[in-house]
Formats: sequence, structure tokens, C-alpha cells
Amino acid sequence: MDSVKRFRHPSLTIFLIGLLAFLTVFTNGIFAAGEVTVIIDPGHGGTNITGTHLLKSNSSPNNATSPSGLREKDLTLELSQEIQRAFESERGPNRAPKIRCILTRTNDWNPDFAQRAKVAADSLNPAALVSIHFNTFRHGAALGTVALIHSRFFSLNHEDDLRFADELTAATSAAVRNFLPRSPAMDSLNDYHIHDGTGAYLFYQMQRYPQLDKVPKCFLEIEFIDRKDVQGKLLDQRLVTFPVIAKAIADYISCYLQEYPQGSCVLSQLEDESADEKFMEEYKKAESPFGNSALIDWFLGAFRRPNLPD
Ligand SMILES: [Zn+2]
Repeated sequence: MDSVKRFRHPSLTIFLIGLLAFLTVFTNGIFAAGEVTVIIDPGHGGTNITGTHLLKSNSSPNNATSPSGLREKDLTLELSQEIQRAFESERGPNRAPKIRCILTRTNDWNPDFAQRAKVAADSLNPAALVSIHFNTFRHGAALGTVALIHSRFFSLNHEDDLRFADELTAATSAAVRNFLPRSPAMDSLNDYHIHDGTGAYLFYQMQRYPQLDKVPKCFLEIEFIDRKDVQGKLLDQRLVTFPVIAKAIADYISCYLQEYPQGSCVLSQLEDESADEKFMEEYKKAESPFGNSALIDWFLGAFRRPNLPD
């Protein structure tokens, strides 16, 4: 009897099904609209150089190696996956906006910088990008966490990048210091010394996509891994240390996006041409008599020179 009754009102059934479908689409739409993507780029990977200098997309497979032979490219992937897990485990009413974390690579291959930037450009509401790296310097002469950003000569978003990078470095460094108490947070570096003054290729590739103009971005060099203390206290214990560092990174980015919602930054003007030309004159003057390594030292200071990203 009941079923006969029910089918006496097919229009009501159709209406209810329609309402349910509408609510499903509508609520999904709301959540999708409020969802933003954080892109984590595990630096390097694979066995070959990919991309080209001509296209400004060149990516090297590995730069740094620890005393025991751990490779930067494996460590960047491990830590990046840990950061993704940290984002996934963040729950609760305070978690606003809803953050989806994606990686530019999930296994041992080497996307060139055009491919890495495209992952960010194709993502839903891209809100922040961090390229994870580990550093070396003159056989263990340096210790610390340092970020690298797109210089004010190239970036419309320099002020936001600088704030984002400085604060992210401080948060990451605080986590690193749980295991290496003397490790400092270094001032963020600009990329105008890289690739003969054209800057880091990842940033160049990101600039090809207008939807990434307001995305805060940086390279984050977690620590110098060519040291025995870093090997013993950070890398050998990474089942313990990496989740702590990853959580600090995810927590900071979540807080940043609550304070500065996706797309809220105000783009600035690039430095004007005359300032740029004056800068390039200084740059060339510094470069000519001493060659490139003296130039790099001139910019970064002998005690703060990191291994440069691609
Ligand atoms: Zn690197």
C-alpha cells in the first residue's frame, strides 16, 4: 500500500530528488568556492637535467648531498609529503579557508620549471607556493634556514613575497631549533644574482600565468645538510624531525591565509627602468673584474651564501 501511495505523487518525488540534487551541487559549489590550493614543490628529482636555459625552465636532478649520502631530491620529496599530510590532518572550525595541498611531483622524476609552474597555474584557487630545498656551503661552513624570493626588479608581488618568506623562515627555523638549537633564521635573499641577473626560473615561469600574480611564493632552504650535526640530529632522526618541521610550515601557511586571504594582496609597480638600469650598471661593475663567484659573495656576504637553486 505504501508504495502505491508514494507513486500517487510522482511530481513530489521528482521535486524532492531535484531538491536533493540541487542542494548537493549548491553545497559542493560553496565548498569548492571557499577552497584554496597550496602548492608544495619538492625541489629536484630524477636523474637528468630537464628543461633548458634558453626557455628558462632548466631543473637539475640533485644539488646537495649529506655526509652519509642522503640526497637533497629524496629529502625534499619526503618533507613535502609530510607537509601535505600536515595540511590533511588540520581539522576543526578554525580551519578557514579550506586548504588543499598538492605537490608538483610525487615520485622520483624531475619536472622542469615550466611544468612545475603549470601545476600551480592549473590548480583550483592557487593561494601560496613553497619550493622545498636543502642546502650545502663549503663543506659544512654554514648552518641555518633561509628563503629566496623574486627580487623587486622582477616581481609585482615583492612586498608580500618578502613578508611571507621571512615569516615562513622564522616558523620553520623555530621548528628546526628543537633539534639544532644554534640554527639561525637568515634574512630572505633576492634572486637577482641568479642566472646572470634574470632570476630564478621557477618565478619566471610562474609569471607567465596571471592567476599566479598574487600568489606568495619562495624557495625555502630548510637547513645545510653537509654537516655531521645536521646529519645526526636532523636527518637521521627524520621520522621524528620532519613531521615537526612539516607541521610548522603547514601551520604558518594556514595562519597566513587566514590573515591574508587568497588574492587579497595589492600588486605593486616594478621598479622603474632608470632604477633598473642603474642597478644593472652596478651589477655589471661588480661582475666584470672578479668573475661570478666574487659577484655572488658581494651580494650575499661570505657567511650567508647558500647553494643557489636553479
Ligand atoms: Zn636545491
